[in-house]
Amino acid sequence: MTSTEESSSLNDNHPSSSTAADPDTTNTTSDTTPTSSAETMTLASPARTATLLANLSSVTSRIAAASAKSPVSRTKPVRLVAVSKLKPASDILALYNAPSSPVGDGDGDSSSAAGVGPQLHFGENYLQELLEKSRILPAGIRWHFIGGLQSNKCVSLARDVRGLWAVESVDTEKKASLLDRGWGERKQRQQQDDDDVEEKLRVFVQVNTSGEENKAGVEPANAPALCRFVREKCPRLHLQGLMTIGAIARSKATTPETENEDFVCLRQTRDAVIKELGLEGDEAASFELSMGMSSDFEGAIMLGSDEVRVGTTIFGERPPKSQAKIV
Ligand SMILES: *Cc1c(COP(=O)(O)O)cnc(C)c1O
Repeated sequence: MTSTEESSSLNDNHPSSSTAADPDTTNTTSDTTPTSSAETMTLASPARTATLLANLSSVTSRIAAASAKSPVSRTKPVRLVAVSKLKPASDILALYNAPSSPVGDGDGDSSSAAGVGPQLHFGENYLQELLEKSRILPAGIRWHFIGGLQSNKCVSLARDVRGLWAVESVDTEKKASLLDRGWGERKQRQQQDDDDVEEKLRVFVQVNTSGEENKAGVEPANAPALCRFVREKCPRLHLQGLMTIGAIARSKATTPETENEDFVCLRQTRDAVIKELGLEGDEAASFELSMGMSSDFEGAIMLGSDEVRVGTTIFGERPPKSQAKIV
């Protein structure tokens, strides 16, 4: 399926020079699975690629429009995390390779979906799937772990996922400590490899804003204490902000005009954290809110979201986990 040309485009079509100094592409993890498993990876069909690019382009415009309308002042653009869980690696590659300027097809016609630019941030919920994807996909991808965290997987998550950019679902001190340990083990290994390592692992504290028993996350009232723990006891973690999912019903009822209580709650929790921890200046201003998914991201942006996590609207409905295929 995959020609040599196609597999080399996997590495060549690199979206930005800031990620060009890729941590090495062969042995960031202790096993030596080569990244060039592109040979075994099927590329998305032209039709699938066109659909994905059109969806990405539409979501990107909607984010821009909501940001422009939002009364919240921002120092940086809203980050889009494309939630790719249970979707094939070829879908991710198609978005990562999205062209930044319209590409003509030779007869002066250009696709309306072209020009959205490379999508760098992707979100995943399952460690095994993320490990596998991070090995076969380009090293420049910035992975977000957004799923329910199990303590016994925290060390491996922080240590072994190539290109791990953030863990968004920290909800206990124990998990924070284990992530801190895993990141330390990664750094040790990479120092031996004489590698360029990110200083700290970004984490978000997940807050259960809806009070539902089956939802992960700390109670809003306990968020400041956990945030303090991360800042004071986890030297290898950087507290990037707070994350919430919120109640499904409220999420479905959210429009850009209605105020979703979960988002209001997360914002209030952020204010409490900033106050109780005495964050000031840049530290306070850069403390992020990760909120908003397919059905409610515009409402979340209106209420001050810095990062939205959008899956279905970009990739379509997800298959059941038992039927998901990575390659
Ligand atoms: C799956 C998931 C998303 C994306 O949900 P969609 O409704 O498909 O956009 C966002 N955040 C978290 C934590 C998720 O688990």
